[in-house]
Amino acid sequence: MRSIGIDLGGHFIKGALVVDGAVTRRDKVPTPQGRSPESVVMAISSMAESLDPGNTALRLGVGFPGMLDPGREKVLQAPNFPMLENYPFRSRVSRACGRDVYLENDASCAALGEWNAGAAKGLTDFVMFTLGTGIGGGIISGGRLIRGSHGKAGELGHLAVGDKTTCGCGAIGHAEAVFGADALKRSFGKAKIKGDLPDLWKRRDEPDIAAVWDRALDVLARLVASVVHVLDPQAVILGGGFSRNPGFVETLEPLVISYTAPPFRNTLDIRLSALGDNAALIGAAGLRE
Ligand SMILES: [Zn+2]
Repeated sequence: MRSIGIDLGGHFIKGALVVDGAVTRRDKVPTPQGRSPESVVMAISSMAESLDPGNTALRLGVGFPGMLDPGREKVLQAPNFPMLENYPFRSRVSRACGRDVYLENDASCAALGEWNAGAAKGLTDFVMFTLGTGIGGGIISGGRLIRGSHGKAGELGHLAVGDKTTCGCGAIGHAEAVFGADALKRSFGKAKIKGDLPDLWKRRDEPDIAAVWDRALDVLARLVASVVHVLDPQAVILGGGFSRNPGFVETLEPLVISYTAPPFRNTLDIRLSALGDNAALIGAAGLRE
């Protein structure tokens, strides 16, 4: 089975030709400036053409960073792509590419990818958190992807376990407004601490830096523990750029345990993504009706 997976991000569009669940060719281009619907559709269409010039892959899936309508035709809310809201995105991409096109939330695609070929292979119940610019979530429960009654389930970054900070979605108190990369950068900026996040993570023993991390990690630990109590998963998978920082799981796990009821502690299984960036691409390529 040959298909194309696209991971649409605010900064880059990544794509892959996936054959029998494995990435055989990859491509990455900057997201068009302005992010107009037409330019995004064109960029996806040219990427499909360059990945599969012979048109042998008839299916193309797009992992989208935002909330989608129940029929997966258009975008309901996307802080990085406001112009795509209510635009008939699926049909326009399909027309431009001449392929069957499927849309799904990007973190749900990452969960599907890990389920197909990564850290969640063989599981029936797990939760995926993608820690990037924001916090994405994907839930597989009872052997299926949970979409909810209106298609919006799994927005784990918007659980209200944070403080009164306003989130990119417009509401207050969400985890993403504290532990998303953008939010972390703002917190360090406010504390007048300079450096990029991987560097600040390495220096987390320095007291002023530790104070910022402690507050942010506390919110992330509350988020993970709360979701574990709701879903009782076999595993919690952590993906996204931030999860690859050395010592991250080891630091987070004891904090999660402190917020977890004793019966859940024995079954708590926090794992790192096995596929990295390929997870969302493989998941998107595997989308179907
Ligand atoms: Zn939010």
